[in-house]
Amino acid sequence: MKIIVIGAVAGGTSAAAKARRNNDSAEIIIYEKDQDISYSGCGLPYYLGGKVGSIQELTPRSPDFFKSKYNIDIHIRHEVLKIDIPTKTLVIKNLDSGAVFNDTYDKLILSTGAQAFVPPIKGIELENVFFLRNVQNALKIKAFMDNHHPKTAVVVGTGFIGFEVMENLEACGIKVTLIERAGKLTPNLDEDMSLYLEKRLSKRKIPIFKNANVVEATSQGVILENGTLIPGEMIIVATGVKPNVTLAREAGLLLGVTGAIRVDERMMTIDTDIYACGDCIETWSAVTKRPHYRPLGSTANKTGRICGDNITGGNVVYPGNLSTGIFKLFDISIGSTGLSEAEARSQGYDIEICHNIKPDKPGYYGGQEMLIKAIADRSTQKLLGVQIIGYDGVDKRLDVFVTLITYGATVDEIFNLDLGYAPPFSTTKDPVHYTGMILD
Ligand code: FAD
Repeated sequence: MKIIVIGAVAGGTSAAAKARRNNDSAEIIIYEKDQDISYSGCGLPYYLGGKVGSIQELTPRSPDFFKSKYNIDIHIRHEVLKIDIPTKTLVIKNLDSGAVFNDTYDKLILSTGAQAFVPPIKGIELENVFFLRNVQNALKIKAFMDNHHPKTAVVVGTGFIGFEVMENLEACGIKVTLIERAGKLTPNLDEDMSLYLEKRLSKRKIPIFKNANVVEATSQGVILENGTLIPGEMIIVATGVKPNVTLAREAGLLLGVTGAIRVDERMMTIDTDIYACGDCIETWSAVTKRPHYRPLGSTANKTGRICGDNITGGNVVYPGNLSTGIFKLFDISIGSTGLSEAEARSQGYDIEICHNIKPDKPGYYGGQEMLIKAIADRSTQKLLGVQIIGYDGVDKRLDVFVTLITYGATVDEIFNLDLGYAPPFSTTKDPVHYTGMILD
């Protein structure tokens, strides 16, 4: 059997490695148009801020590693230009030599990922305007910082990447101004939680412009629709990503309602010999079963592994996801999982909501305020979603809620969870317990 994978970052390499573990004899080839493979995109903001000392720490595996450990051939700087499904043939271009050649597959895995969304901003091609999607983007930003020593920057977009970049530029002594087109920060948070975050951030005196539409980038900063110039020697545009689906679409594969590649619960496309994973696919909510697009490394790794398994005879089913996300902003952590209030209402749920502010540990042990917003379905009493903003232990509480939602817990079951307690970690009744007590 000959397996070809397109894309060698999170999804593609997970798929190929799992396929190899299942099948010793298959020929496995990955084509990757970029020069970097199997890197941690999630670590890139921390490279900018200096927490990650060298880019090699984020790119620990080379094609030689995959050859010697897994007998997988990775061809970097090779772009797949076309998939011909009837003949199971790929047209590939070697980006160094310019040579174009064909290769054939028995099974194909698409892990073509996503690319930064480029908003219609005049001057976006200027040398002080950047996106952060891959290793080369990060190196370019770092080189600009090293060569120009900017003192000010503008970050456009307040999703987790925009915030992480902001934090890391500030760590380098660069004063950042945040610009958000929407009326609230961070798409995953409800408006009330977003306001709470803004209040916490206000201590840092970071200028934030909401309802602000950037129309032009210049070497001095960005110009808003109302003509205001927001100064910034460097500009980072972090306005989301879009899935790379051109190959799939031109081959005749089905795209979903979100525009990403449609797969079934075994990650199979409409062609039984073509599977797909990672940021190029549409997944679905584990709560509502409705399709959504949630490009995350956590999901790319899982769906990649499932592809590799199923394409080599496995029968693993993906249950969907909760859109769980978490990020850090200075000493604050922000997490969310499941449905937001806005999503739950728009999907017709009759909901109960609780806002619960409690210390993350006892005052005598340095406890600090943690805000938990939980959303439950009134008729079934099941939790639908949770958002948390706090200092210590947000990740632990978030993951407890993820587990509760995943296994369909009802609100009355939360209080009796036997969570670990000692003063360095929590209070005798944990903020999770209080959430259940308030909702019940
Ligand atoms: P990609 O990483 O996009 O890789 C796809 C690859 O396919 C690319 O290298 C591309 O060159 C290649 N390719 C595309 N088309 C072709 C073609 N025709 N021929 C050959 N090759 C092709 N996720 C989290 O869960 N938590 C985080 O904290 C987090 N932080 C992040 C921070 C940043 C700054 C960024 C950019 C992302 C972050 N993510 C995070 C998201 C995570 O990095 C992605 O979800 C993950 O990289 C997706 O992996 P992928 O393999 O599906 O796609």
